[in-house]
Amino acid sequence: MNLKDEILKGNRLALSKAITLLESNLETDRAKAMKLVSQCTINSGKSIRIGISGSPGVGKSTFIDSFGKLLTSQEKKIAVLAIDPSSERTYGSILGDKSRMTNLAADKNAFIRPSPSKGILGGIAQFTRDSVILCEAAGFDIIIIETVGVGQSETKVNNIVDFFLLLILSGAGDGLQGIKRGIIELADLITITKTDGNNIDKAKEAKQEYIQALQLFPLKDNGWKPIVTTCSAIKNEGIKKISEKIYSYDKIMNMNGWKNQKREQQDVYWLHHNIKHELGERRYNELHKNKNIQSLEKMIKEKPIYEIISSLYKS
Ligand code: GDP
Repeated sequence: MNLKDEILKGNRLALSKAITLLESNLETDRAKAMKLVSQCTINSGKSIRIGISGSPGVGKSTFIDSFGKLLTSQEKKIAVLAIDPSSERTYGSILGDKSRMTNLAADKNAFIRPSPSKGILGGIAQFTRDSVILCEAAGFDIIIIETVGVGQSETKVNNIVDFFLLLILSGAGDGLQGIKRGIIELADLITITKTDGNNIDKAKEAKQEYIQALQLFPLKDNGWKPIVTTCSAIKNEGIKKISEKIYSYDKIMNMNGWKNQKREQQDVYWLHHNIKHELGERRYNELHKNKNIQSLEKMIKEKPIYEIISSLYKS
């Protein structure tokens, strides 16, 4: 099977195989994977990339299940990729169990890929970015990157996504104090989960608390004022509103050029990051010292990152 051709046709098996290739630490597989990501790059970039973060138990998988089904009912194709920082350390994935997102998993317009269960060369964030490119080339309209909200991975994920959604549980140790300031600062939308049954009053209080807290943060560079909402994934309430806010954000940021600008900045970040990981710190520092990095940055608009890097192997 020609993986590239099959991915471009939207073949999910080919997409799965390609992502497995990305997970491989074998040098020959690595070369194939980089070539594939390069080939797919020109067909990528057309999706809305959403980061979804929240502590374990906040209701991420239930939310994504309900949110994802709403999107597929709107004829969207949706891919879900998970980042679990613990899998990098312990070589085991807590997000890997198949019972999560059961409705979405059975949907032919959804593709769910759990976090890799072993160490990945270049780290999980780099792997995830490459997977996003493959998913976009396969025609997915919305890509969700799920993280567990411990801080580190969110900052990296912010270098992949367009929009950041933070899920918060009211009154369960997940109060304002418990959430890292840095994560709140990244959020474009905060939603208080499980707003149903006995939780409704607490959730409304939490919403007000977060609205006030957000007023203390400076306005984002793109002019977006983060929104706070409530939702109940099991009752399917508040989910559509979140999707509408995301579509509206995407429309605004497309129109004012911010989406492109952010993606270009992200590409520069990944160029630096990937050179370090593929060629080593020493070579990277040399390129920096000789100011060659700037000329490589200029190539980003014309060439996929891995193509730029492979030309460095040869030089
Ligand atoms: P995750 O660890 O963040 O992925 O959280 P899960 O989606 O697995 O949810 C954790 C628990 O909260 C499960 O027992 C869910 O059934 C429950 N839960 C998730 N969403 C809701 C909701 O909207 N309302 C209520 N009452 N419970 C929910």
